Amino acid sequence: MKNEIIERFTTYVKVDTQSNENSETCPSTEGQLTLANMLVEELKTIGMEEVTIDENGYVMATLPATTDKDVPTIGFLAHVDTATDFTGKNVNPQVIENFDGDAIVLNKELGIVLSPEDFPELPQYTGHTLITTDGTTLLGADNKAGIAEIMTAMAYLIKHPEIKHGKIRVAFTPDEEIGRGPHKFDVAAFNAKFAYTIDGGPLGELEYESFNAAGAKLTFKGKNVHPGTAKGKMVNSAKIAMEFHSKLPAEEAPEHTEGYEGFFHLSSINGDVEETKLQYIIRDFHRDSFQARKNLFEKIAGELKEKYGEQHVHLELNDQYYNMKDKIEPVKEIVDIAYEAMENLGIKPIVKPIRGGTDGSQLSYMGLPTPNIFTGGENFHGRFEYISVDNMQKSVETIIEIAKLFEAKA
Ligand SMILES: [Zn+2]
Repeated sequence: MKNEIIERFTTYVKVDTQSNENSETCPSTEGQLTLANMLVEELKTIGMEEVTIDENGYVMATLPATTDKDVPTIGFLAHVDTATDFTGKNVNPQVIENFDGDAIVLNKELGIVLSPEDFPELPQYTGHTLITTDGTTLLGADNKAGIAEIMTAMAYLIKHPEIKHGKIRVAFTPDEEIGRGPHKFDVAAFNAKFAYTIDGGPLGELEYESFNAAGAKLTFKGKNVHPGTAKGKMVNSAKIAMEFHSKLPAEEAPEHTEGYEGFFHLSSINGDVEETKLQYIIRDFHRDSFQARKNLFEKIAGELKEKYGEQHVHLELNDQYYNMKDKIEPVKEIVDIAYEAMENLGIKPIVKPIRGGTDGSQLSYMGLPTPNIFTGGENFHGRFEYISVDNMQKSVETIIEIAKLFEAKA
């Protein structure tokens, strides 16, 4: 099975599918459609049924049930795009058999080394088959590993009809990295009761809690007057912006928080006397403290309006996604089944909150409860990204085991 996984994965990563938030189309980039169409052909070749691709590039397919029992339809999802943080063009994957646990020279000429000093988890992969970059691009294990794992699991189940399982739906979706993955996802057409994204990191990761997320855009308007004659006349928008930021709790920032702690993150600042714009993201696991964070923004903006005048302060707050836990907790058995599947395979489940969002955060609120499962990858979104093929196989086995457990419990 390992060769099959390597073959698929190294084929997918060579297609440049980096998404682009400045694009209005869906998918946001042409390359995503190229890969989506390749996946359609492959799904047909391995024997999947009802293989479709819609006008937005969403690929869906069915593996029919092999049991007469009334098993809920489950789905497995992965996204075709790669991160915007680092280039995904001309990815040149390096396969390292029987890894010796020492530093890996990714690129001799450029002196780029993946070393245990920088990445202390590296030696635990001793003896594994690893796939790395050549140091000049990201790898795209996020999320092409998920695609390869789902595809390999389906191919395996098709070759082993004696394994009893219910109906399985598969989807490969665009533009996760720019937060639009679920926007045009047709939940009704997918028609599964529950789903799992195969989009997590190292072995054992199982996630069903995400942030509640909002974005805030603040625009401060000033009044510019020659500084020599500005007394009583000038309003400096940059200083009002600084005043706004100074009223936020300094410790509640990404660089000071972890675990279940939320934050305010100033992601960009742009301005001069005349006009200054601040952009923030607001993150919190709990609905009430999430609301309190947004209220604080309103309150500070209100105070500054009172001080400088209504026209000088403009706040725009937008919710982005919510903690999927609220939608998954009522059907917690889907998390328990994934947990049990891993334990049956000797994998230690690592259940932790995602300090971010996944497609599942939005899908769960669209009526499809969707926890997230590991792919086996490390260091996503950069040149040091790598993945263990041994752990990719564990991910394939987890998918198969989940399908079996749903049948066994029906
Ligand atoms: Zn991802």
